[in-house]
Amino acid sequence: MKSVAIFGATGSIGGSALDVIARHPDRFRVGALTAHRNIEALTELCARHRPDLAIIADPACENEFATALKTRGLATRVASGEAALERAAEDASNDIVIAAIVGAAGLRSTLAAARSGKRLLLANKESAVMAGPLLRAALAEGGGELIPIDSEHNALFQCLPPRCNDVAARGDIRRLWLTASGGPFRGRTRTQLADVTPEQACAHPNWRMGRKISVDSATLMNKGLEVIEAQVLFGVAEPAIEVVVHPQSLVHSLVEYVDGSFLAQLGQPDMRTAIAHALAWPERIEAGVAPLDPCTLTLQFEAPDSDTFRCLVLARQALRAGGDAPAVLNAANEAAVAAFLEGRLTFLGIAQTIESVLNELPPQPVVDVGTLIERDLTARRVAARIIQRVQ
Ligand code: NAD
Ligand code: MG
Repeated sequence: MKSVAIFGATGSIGGSALDVIARHPDRFRVGALTAHRNIEALTELCARHRPDLAIIADPACENEFATALKTRGLATRVASGEAALERAAEDASNDIVIAAIVGAAGLRSTLAAARSGKRLLLANKESAVMAGPLLRAALAEGGGELIPIDSEHNALFQCLPPRCNDVAARGDIRRLWLTASGGPFRGRTRTQLADVTPEQACAHPNWRMGRKISVDSATLMNKGLEVIEAQVLFGVAEPAIEVVVHPQSLVHSLVEYVDGSFLAQLGQPDMRTAIAHALAWPERIEAGVAPLDPCTLTLQFEAPDSDTFRCLVLARQALRAGGDAPAVLNAANEAAVAAFLEGRLTFLGIAQTIESVLNELPPQPVVDVGTLIERDLTARRVAARIIQRVQ
């Protein structure tokens, strides 16, 4: 029986993970659940899944949350705050940590889980983007294993040789191909993107996800972050990571070997496949996902339009620039996406803002998590100033 801690349990990935876990009460139990501020949703999850511990990240919510649990007669222990999240990620009573907090807020708990040698199921790509070298060092130090649940990286994990985290040092892999759906605005020109709304940006054709990643998918920054994530997880050189638009979202990514073989992983656009794979690996378990009939499939592939969707180019630039440029890119993107969702920035202003922040903050070496978080805050401050100007 494996005990699982889910960070970001009230989100889209958290819900999918709990669905898979509930199908296998003989294999998994829920050790801990966390959420940001949604007391009602976290209380419901505690009632249904009976974790030992529940953490509400915002300390201002702790008392009300504790009362809500007591009113329901639940014995779940309660904690709050960043340090409690970090402690829970390290806690020896959990075997598996699912990192599904959105954004830089997931960084410390993700690193803590890596350092403590657990099986880390990584959805929180922003922490890999921000702190790639620190994440790799933490994994090496803790001796744990990272299994990506971002669907593309999970597909690559499945198609690569076992435990392959240094592709560049091998002679047998030519390229990794990340597939992208193209998002809701595929095929549009820049002019046609000038006045798109948050609602349109969040209406993803194939996936149901949180609002931040939905906007990232619409700008193609999601794919840019995933290029960086692939470099961090698999040790692959930037030029050997290709992006190809595949509107059906059925081929989740491909590995191209030097002998001309392409290995691809296919499946429904349902995150439960990747989550079930990572929970049970190297075994396979039922995920609740509808079967796929190959006879009904039409698969299209096309090059991404990087003139229109500038974020992909900016992410590659940041990766090549090195140092903490990916952390600056990530912070600027988080600030710009939040401003867009709040109606303070246009859709095209997102890329404009990120580009200006990268220009203002040339890369510095990555030292430790403290300096990275400081840098993240600086980049957000610069972004806030630029957003006022751009708008
Ligand atoms: P979501 O917005 O649905 O959920 C986010 C979760 O994080 C919630 O539980 C929320 O309470 C928590 N959270 C938010 N801010 C927090 C804070 N400051 N401190 C602590 N907790 C906080 O997001 P999602 O779509 O589930 O995505 C989660 C992560 O997984 C993101 O990094 C995303 O890029 C990645 N991801 C998601 C999908 C998907 O299909 N949804 C696919 C691949 C990768
Ligand atoms: Mg993905």
